[in-house]
Amino acid sequence: MKKRFWFLAAVGILVVALAAPAAFAAITGSGQEVEPQQDQVFFDQMFDWHQGWLDQAQKNSGVSPEQAKAWQEHFSYMRDFHAQNGFGPMGSMMDGEGLNGMMGSGGMVVLNEDDCMVEMARFFLDFTQKESCGKCTFCRLGTKHMLTILENITKGQGKPEDLELLLELAGDVKAGSLCGLGKTAPNPVLSTVKYFRDEYEAHIHEKRCPALMCKDLIAYYILPEKCERSCNACVGSCPVEAIFDNEDRIKVIDQKKCVKCDSCMVACPPQYKAVVKLSPPEAVAEYEKGKRS
Ligand code: SF4
Ligand code: SF4
Repeated sequence: MKKRFWFLAAVGILVVALAAPAAFAAITGSGQEVEPQQDQVFFDQMFDWHQGWLDQAQKNSGVSPEQAKAWQEHFSYMRDFHAQNGFGPMGSMMDGEGLNGMMGSGGMVVLNEDDCMVEMARFFLDFTQKESCGKCTFCRLGTKHMLTILENITKGQGKPEDLELLLELAGDVKAGSLCGLGKTAPNPVLSTVKYFRDEYEAHIHEKRCPALMCKDLIAYYILPEKCERSCNACVGSCPVEAIFDNEDRIKVIDQKKCVKCDSCMVACPPQYKAVVKLSPPEAVAEYEKGKRS
């Protein structure tokens, strides 16, 4: 009995000893533990699979020529991007240093020009900040401080010195955290500042969200020249009754009432597309002035 216990204990220790380093290497994703060649093989296989899928889809007429062209351009871009920036572990976001960015594990987030990169960084940092166990001071307080700065920027309350402060804090949190969560938490910020610095600057200096995503930096507006029929679809969709007819019987949005829910934009029939988003919100006054003059 005793012999069997010690045998099982020895097997258990051996399994943990073999599995733990691999698990930690996968979690930290810091680059040192991962063989770059392995990642390149993985990415090459993935690109080949995508190419095979596209070739087959074209043969079966599963995609239009325009779609095929768009996919092909995207695949070529991704191949070039990874060739220049390195091949990271799964779930990583490349940031120019190769194996140095992580925005989650086991998933891929695809974004387009309608996604605000500052808001994305805020979203990911909000997640990691809540996940922090709080053991390391840099992770506990640093991510909180970074999150507050990002929240202010997305609300139009960013200050010119915020960008440098964010980068400084990001470096401190990475260096001062013990585990993979703290070490990778600032990566979405580092990556987005590196590749989309102009979006941060637009938020901070112009109080404008180029992707028209940050609620505090946008306003909804009805283009009178497009709302010719005044079909009323938007009026019924508005949860706060913010849309009304002005004295010229033109649909107008009461900006004080509007909660920026997007319903009117969705409700407006595609043949009219009369509801638009403007940023900064002050652009509405300029539009209206332009219509009057
Ligand atoms: S965005 Fe929402 S709240 Fe604002 S006017 Fe449109 S429907 Fe109403
Ligand atoms: S749904 Fe569009 S077209 Fe219809 S009234 Fe509203 S803004 Fe005008």
